[in-house]
Formats: sequence, C-alpha cells, structure tokens
Amino acid sequence: MTETLQGASKMKEPDIEKVLFTGEEIQARVKELALDISRDYEGKVPILISVLKGGVLFLSDLMRELTVLHEIDFMSVSSYDGGMDTTGVVRILADLSINIEGKDVLIVEDIVDTGLTLDYIRHLLLGRHPKSLKIVTLLDKRERRRVDVPIDYVGFVIPDAFVIGYGLDYQQKYRNLPYIAIMKSDA
Ligand code: 5GP
Repeated sequence: MTETLQGASKMKEPDIEKVLFTGEEIQARVKELALDISRDYEGKVPILISVLKGGVLFLSDLMRELTVLHEIDFMSVSSYDGGMDTTGVVRILADLSINIEGKDVLIVEDIVDTGLTLDYIRHLLLGRHPKSLKIVTLLDKRERRRVDVPIDYVGFVIPDAFVIGYGLDYQQKYRNLPYIAIMKSDA
C-alpha cells in the first residue's frame, strides 16, 4: 500500500487488492473538474446536489475549488434490495430542502455503476423543472452500465471492481480513507 491510513491509526486495515488513485491524484483531478465546471457555469449560481452518503467527500473538496457562487443540497436514497444487484427501484429517504424549479442543477455523484440509481434521480429532478440539469461523477464504472445516463463531467473511468475510500464504503466503513482502492474480492 502506498499510503497509510490518516486519522485512523486504530482502524482495522481494509483488505486491499490495489490502490487505484492516491489522495494526491484525487485532489488534482478534483481541481481539474472544478476548473471545467467553473468555466461552464460562469455568471450562474448552480445548486450542487449530493447524493448521500458516498458523495460528501467529493462535494466538499469540489465546492472549495469552484470559483462560481453556488448552493448545495442533499438527497438520501436507497435502492430496494432485490438481491445482489441493484434493482433500479429507488426509495427517497430524505428529499431536497430547496425548490429547484428554474435553477441550474448539478448532481454530484461519487460513482456511477449500472446507472439505475442516477437515472431514477435524474428523472425525478427533471420533473421539478430545473432550468438545466447536469451530472458530475468522480468515478465511472462504465462497463457495468445498464441504462444510458448522460454524464457531463467524469473524474476517472474505472474497471468493474468493488472500490472503497474517499466516501465509498464497505459495510458503512472505510469512507474516511484518503485514497480509492479495490477491495480484495474474498475480503
Ligand atoms: P448504480 O448501480 O445504481 O449506478 O449504483 C448504485 C450505488 O451503488 C452507487 O451510488 C454506490 O453507492 C454503490 N456502488 C456501486 N459501485 C460501488 C463500488 O465499487 N463501491 C462502493 N463502495 N459502492 C458502489
């Protein structure tokens, strides 16, 4: 492992197959994304919507790099459990606190896998008539896609493997890892 756990010295080390992106690589890519987004939203005040919980680290780093005025809000959703795979049937656990009608909305996602969750959220928000709706995801597991969701900004395209760190969990743990790593499949 190229990085040690920061602020988590008493935490059990996760079973890691490979570090995909170090903290430094993630921060550099987040800065590049923020540059693109700031340029595209110049003169506008977008509402950044983070889907809890995985996207919070990405949102907090991204917003600190943005040079345009913006607002933030949160949604919490859960997929109905239909077995191992995501079903695409989504339950809203916590809805937005602001009205997005007529606003420029940017959904900030940690990872897009099958795309089913994001597709549901996108259609839900489009029904509320925002002025525009774009999507940024830090990670894109493109080869797993089952529904074609238009994604405007992508941090990294990753292979079909289960990843943890930088907001992403394994059984709700390891979100605090500063890097993104592939878990061992027998972990
Ligand atoms: P979807 O398949 O609907 O695109 O993704 C649903 C959710 O599954 C994502 O928002 C994310 O919370 C979770 N997910 C998908 N792939 C991974 C992964 O590799 N690691 C972790 N920790 N969560 C994932």
